[in-house]
Amino acid sequence: MATLITGGGGFIGSHLVDLLREETNESIIILDNFSTGTKDNIAGFDRVEVINGSVCESDIVDGAVSRATEVYHLAAAVGVEKIVDNPLDSLQTNLEGTENVLEAAAEHQVPTFIASSSEVYGKSTAVPFAESDNRILGPTTSPRWSYASAKAVDEAYGLAYHDAEDLPVVVGRYFNIVGPRQSGQYGMVIPTFVEQALAGEPLTVYGDGTQTRSFTHVEEAVRATYELLHDPDAHGEVFNVGAPQPTSINDLAERVIELTGSESEIEHIPYEVAYDEDFEEPQQREPDVSQLEATLGWRPETELDRILEDVIEERREPTVPEAAE
Ligand code: UDP
Repeated sequence: MATLITGGGGFIGSHLVDLLREETNESIIILDNFSTGTKDNIAGFDRVEVINGSVCESDIVDGAVSRATEVYHLAAAVGVEKIVDNPLDSLQTNLEGTENVLEAAAEHQVPTFIASSSEVYGKSTAVPFAESDNRILGPTTSPRWSYASAKAVDEAYGLAYHDAEDLPVVVGRYFNIVGPRQSGQYGMVIPTFVEQALAGEPLTVYGDGTQTRSFTHVEEAVRATYELLHDPDAHGEVFNVGAPQPTSINDLAERVIELTGSESEIEHIPYEVAYDEDFEEPQQREPDVSQLEATLGWRPETELDRILEDVIEERREPTVPEAAE
């Protein structure tokens, strides 16, 4: 038997693979279509089987789940840019994919972790956000809020399967998970700023830069993920998974410039130029982690500078020059 990680080739998934390889002797099955993940993230690992497929294909999902003793469902369309550019694809992956995973997990009675997102809080400003707080979303015509709705439905599905089918399910709401291996390709701010700073280009701060995010080290996020699924008291519950230390995007840009020693300047870009006219975004984001801490006995707290140092070190690593012909 094995542990199944959907989206195991992705940024968070591949760090979970690292943790499981350290903590257990079980084999690992990764189901990934590598739409945003990369095979480099998991290349050369023993005990890891890779199924190249989509969570939208129910037969493949059922086959993989039937061989598993636990499931981490991390496969999803992620990244604000990707979601805004491909709303249909993102809805299908995030709704059908989760439905397929939960249906198979219930059929085979396999404990399942469902990855959700702090996006479900929408544009609420009532920080810090507790799991039972109200959510405030904009209109369905904005893809960002459809993504938030899809993630909320995923959560509700998970909880309903827990109640109706006795399926051990736990939901984690990730808050801006960052660290090495995260791609800047889909607009994520830390890899984008670090790459800009190292290249001596301006750091592109969207809006006035006063918006805040609570950046969370991926290593702490995957440890919390693993421990939540292994704690029967957590089943049937939703948990914020994040470090409760909000930072404004202006401050983030300044820290990146300082820590890289870059000469780059900061350039403010209006949202309508960065995205489009109707773009809206959460102004504040900070988790209330009391429930997480009460359950795990610890909370994510890696400081922003340490996170940035890890990402900068990775991005600075010299690439091996190609051999001369
Ligand atoms: N952001 C920015 N410049 C960029 C990319 C992102 O100022 O090049 C901002 C973005 O507007 C948001 C914050 O950084 O306020 C975090 O963006 P990200 O896409 O990483 O995560 P999310 O929006 O999902 O919190």
